[in-house]
Amino acid sequence: MSGIADRLARGIAHGGPIPVAQYMAEANAHYYATRDPLGAAGDFTTAPEIHQMFGEMIGIWCADLWQRAGRPARVLYVEPGPGRGTLARDALRVMARFGFAPEVHLIETSPTLRARQAELVPGAVWHDGIETVPEDAPLLLVANEFLDALPVRQIVRAGAGWRERMVGMIDGAFAPIAGDRPMDAAAPPAWRDAAEGAVIETSPAGAAFMGEIGRRLAAQGGGALVIDYGHAAPVLGSTLQAVRDHARADPFAAPGEADLTALVDFAAMRDAAVAGGARALGVAGQGAWLGAMGIAARAQTLMQAGPERARDVAVALHRLTAAEAMGELFKVLGLAGGEWPAGAGFPEEK
Ligand code: SAH
Repeated sequence: MSGIADRLARGIAHGGPIPVAQYMAEANAHYYATRDPLGAAGDFTTAPEIHQMFGEMIGIWCADLWQRAGRPARVLYVEPGPGRGTLARDALRVMARFGFAPEVHLIETSPTLRARQAELVPGAVWHDGIETVPEDAPLLLVANEFLDALPVRQIVRAGAGWRERMVGMIDGAFAPIAGDRPMDAAAPPAWRDAAEGAVIETSPAGAAFMGEIGRRLAAQGGGALVIDYGHAAPVLGSTLQAVRDHARADPFAAPGEADLTALVDFAAMRDAAVAGGARALGVAGQGAWLGAMGIAARAQTLMQAGPERARDVAVALHRLTAAEAMGELFKVLGLAGGEWPAGAGFPEEK
């Protein structure tokens, strides 16, 4: 067993099973702190790593919103979980073309990834969490594949009621089990009578983060784009999965050696941001949103400028936007706050 697996196993041997949320948090903290997981040689590839067009569309959204807001002098570009910094680099390059140069604040706990980000985004300021990001200027926050890495809490139907879903050791291996403590109050009425073994998953860390974003947007002004794979409405069942070597793996097999993720409940995340004080602009499919931002025209320009790369551009466009690729499973939640207007690509929700 690896160091982290060993540490978790010893903790469970001494103190008993731990909640799934704690298991996921500790495994991912180790995973991200010890490697650059992105790209062909890593475990998974994200939209900004597929093609620069993704970050460019986000840059256009930010620059357009800044113009609509009257070009305020000081704005913070805030990105939690910036990975290699590719998205920030591509988006900021486009913003600069509009004469927009926001102050850059990156939220990243992994020292390995901070070093990568410093290469692509010189002049950024790093933070361990949102708490230390300045409160005295509007923010444009962009989060791509950040929420899916935050720990989920699960409850499981066991016998007459609901229990927290825990991770214990069975025959020397990590395995999910039902905890002792009754958790009936945590089950929403619609699912209270679900069958034995049913799992209800929530993201308290995601909701807390979105609540804080909502509060910040209301108090400071600005806008946000939250992009991830997930559902428009809550679903029953565990979506916890491990991704290793570009394939799905057992989330309990090798903690700390695979990326643990869960699908994002966009309705819950939107509601948390609205409860914090932000306006929801809408939740769009990634394909539809990129289309509204003009990605097809951008692809056309790139193809004409470099015919030798035309095929790569076409393949990337398909991956980013097609319904059977990332176009529908991936969604974009738009938010605005304070006096700031609605951003492009969403018909604003009433
Ligand atoms: N947004 C990037 C990277 C996604 S990978 C892209 O699209 O390519 C997830 C990112 O979130 C990594 O940068 C990881 O280090 C960071 N991360 C994961 N959990 C975190 C946490 N609890 N706090 C801060 N950053 C976290």
